[in-house]
Amino acid sequence: MDALVTRLKDYRTIIFAVVRRTNTFAVRPFSDADEQLLRELLDASASLWNELNYERRQQFFDGKSVWDTADYRKQYVDVLGSATAQQIIRKNKSAWQSFFAAQENGEDTAPPGYWGNEEDGRELRTLIRNDQYTLETGERSRVEIPVGQALKDDYGLGYHNRLRLEVCGQPKWDGEQGQLEIQYDEIDDTFRAFQPVSVPDSQQDSPLASEEAALDVGANNLVACTTTTGQQYLYDGRELFAQFRETTEEIARLQSKLREGQYSSRRIRKLYRKRTRRRDHAQAALCRDLIERLHAEGVATVYVGDLTDVLEAHWCAKVNAKTHQFWAFRSFINRLSYTAEEYGITIEVRSEADTTRTCPVCGEQNDTDRDGDVFRCPCGHEAHADLCASRTFLKQQAGEIEVGSMARPVRLKWDGHCWSEIPHSPERASPNEKRTNRSTREGKVASVGTA
Ligand SMILES: [Zn+2]
Repeated sequence: MDALVTRLKDYRTIIFAVVRRTNTFAVRPFSDADEQLLRELLDASASLWNELNYERRQQFFDGKSVWDTADYRKQYVDVLGSATAQQIIRKNKSAWQSFFAAQENGEDTAPPGYWGNEEDGRELRTLIRNDQYTLETGERSRVEIPVGQALKDDYGLGYHNRLRLEVCGQPKWDGEQGQLEIQYDEIDDTFRAFQPVSVPDSQQDSPLASEEAALDVGANNLVACTTTTGQQYLYDGRELFAQFRETTEEIARLQSKLREGQYSSRRIRKLYRKRTRRRDHAQAALCRDLIERLHAEGVATVYVGDLTDVLEAHWCAKVNAKTHQFWAFRSFINRLSYTAEEYGITIEVRSEADTTRTCPVCGEQNDTDRDGDVFRCPCGHEAHADLCASRTFLKQQAGEIEVGSMARPVRLKWDGHCWSEIPHSPERASPNEKRTNRSTREGKVASVGTA
């Protein structure tokens, strides 16, 4: 009865909730001229932000009020259009307001920074007010954004002061649209859009979520996950890690060539930034991909191994400091938590002692064997070692889960832009995985027969 009341309460909360989601998609100009125009628009936006921010910083450090500034809207209206110029000015104002609020709370924070830096120049990005753009989705998705009169004239945009861009892929969430942010990603040579939307409750597809999942975090496989619904996911990190190591080696090579007394160079700093951004991009995409899958499975709680445990138990022995750097665990767990929160999923950090050597089927700990990616137990259980560890961890946290009810693992690979499923190749599966799978099918048939 109590459980039912709790469930009803959950359900009511969800009925009245409007949740915020963010659509992320690439946008593509239709021609070279359009691309040039877009670049100018983003560059002018950054220029406006930086000029205004420079003036405010000067005033701030001179002990003056930061609110009395030149009229930047007037200076940029020709290029950006009035609404976009205002949107950037408003965003800068709110950044300073947050800064002052944090200061009042006694927090040690820095005043708002610039879009870009001296070495790499301005960061190409802009902000389009929610009522100033249109996003059409369907077979040929596109977005239209406003541009200023001067840009329009320069590029002969025709009657409308609007630039049309192709949207790659289908934005996932449908709802009341918020401010659109467009950024140019230098590393991927891609224009990327971020669109927050308020999604009505009806899109919540699992209001009575009560399933659980456990993660094993590793190096070759970034994340192995098992759910109480019998799903398993494996995110392959080999290529990503190889790329990271390659950049690290290049940094070391350049460092060895520095003149005496010189500690870094422009090229080295650039490689560091590139390395970090690549990793962060893949990590953020992994968090989102995984959480979306778990949300669809009705998972409410995700267990992640305690960081210190993870670092000590199955890292130090065979993995070096570079791997720690690659993972940046704390930032990964934070990112995972933020993403999970968006979907109403709770992340719980728990100790995962002994998970790597315990058999999820029979509980044996001493005579099990881990050889690379393969876990073997005298009881005959043989499976992917990281998936096994996540399954054992899940059993420790969630109690018994039925043996033989595991579906064929979903394997995912990073292509520099997104995580996608690797089509299952039979020869890659271990004999035991095949057997497990067959018994699953038989189990289902049997249960249909008896139901
Ligand atoms: Zn066993």
